[in-house]
This record gives sequence, C-alpha cells and structure tokens, in this order.
Amino acid sequence: MDFKEYIRVIPDFPQPGISFKDITTLLNDGDKYRQAIDEMKKMVSDLQIDLIAGPEARGFVVGAPLAYALGVGFVPIRKSGKLPYETIEVGYDLEYGKDTLAMHSDAIKPGQNVLIADDLLATGGTISTSVNLVKQLGGNIVGTAFLIELCELNGRAKLPDINVFSLMKY
Ligand code: IMP
Repeated sequence: MDFKEYIRVIPDFPQPGISFKDITTLLNDGDKYRQAIDEMKKMVSDLQIDLIAGPEARGFVVGAPLAYALGVGFVPIRKSGKLPYETIEVGYDLEYGKDTLAMHSDAIKPGQNVLIADDLLATGGTISTSVNLVKQLGGNIVGTAFLIELCELNGRAKLPDINVFSLMKY
C-alpha cells in the first residue's frame, strides 16, 4: 500500500533547503491513519515488546496508537522541564538546532524490551538520544520504527546493531 500520496511535502520549511514531510495530511484521514499504524504493527510483529517509547510530539502520534494496538505500555520522551517527576536527560543536535530530551527515571525497568517509535528518521539525532535514555535505565532496545525514513540523511548509521523499520522511504 502506498501511503506517500497522503504525505504533503513542503519545500523550504522550516528553513531554506529543507523538504519537510508533513504527516498531518495522513493523520487527517481516519482510515489511512489506522492502516498506517496497522502496517507498523505488522512490521514489528516478530519482536517481543514490553514498552514503546516515543519522543514528543509526533512520536506520541505514532507511538501511542502503536502501543495501544500491541497492548503494551507507552513511555513519553519529552523536552527538558516538561515531565513532573525525577528525570534523566541527554542533550543532542537536531537537523536544525539543539535540544535536550528527558524521561522519567522509573519509566523503564532493567531488562524490559523497548521499541522506540517516531514519525520520521532524518539524521538520527533524536532517536539515538532516545536510545541513550532507554539504555541508561537498563532497557533492551528491540528496534526503532518510523512512518518515514529520509534515506539520504543516513540516520541508520547512528543506530548500529539496532533494527530500523520504516513504512515510507524518501
Ligand atoms: P533527526 O533527529 O534528524 O533524525 O530528525 C527527526 C526528528 O525531527 C523527528 O522527531 C521529526 O519529528 C523531526 N523532523 C525532521 N524532519 C522532518 C520532516 O521533514 N517532517 C517531519 N518531521 C521532521
């Protein structure tokens, strides 16, 4: 099934030279959104998953419905200062800027199998930071799953020895 026709491509957003993949047009269509999550569920069906972790904000839009579909828990990864309880934090570079991601320090128990989900893999900075957070808590990364992978940015290189699943490749 081709989901790409439901992705709106915006040239030069948020900066000149960036071809932004807008997923809101997919989310806007209830059937396609559900089909996309169902396809992602199939992609990871061989994995043993205890929890899905997803970085804000679009990682919630993908990770939470996938967790619901799989019947597993969801762990929000948030920007620094947003989570109310004790956190661990890791700084990172983005495709356009810098940031810090945080996770509750008790969100993952050592040895739990964690899938990390986000809307899009670009340079891999967001996901490799999410991987670091999960590993700091002793979680076992069973894979990473995305709606979209921007192949020429080679985010996979930042995820050596980690399964990478993506529904659409550009
Ligand atoms: P990375 O850290 O460079 O891999 O960038 C991935 C993160 O940036 C994801 O959390 C995306 O939500 C966001 N992002 C980067 N480029 C795009 C885009 O073209 N469309 C939507 N989100 C993007």
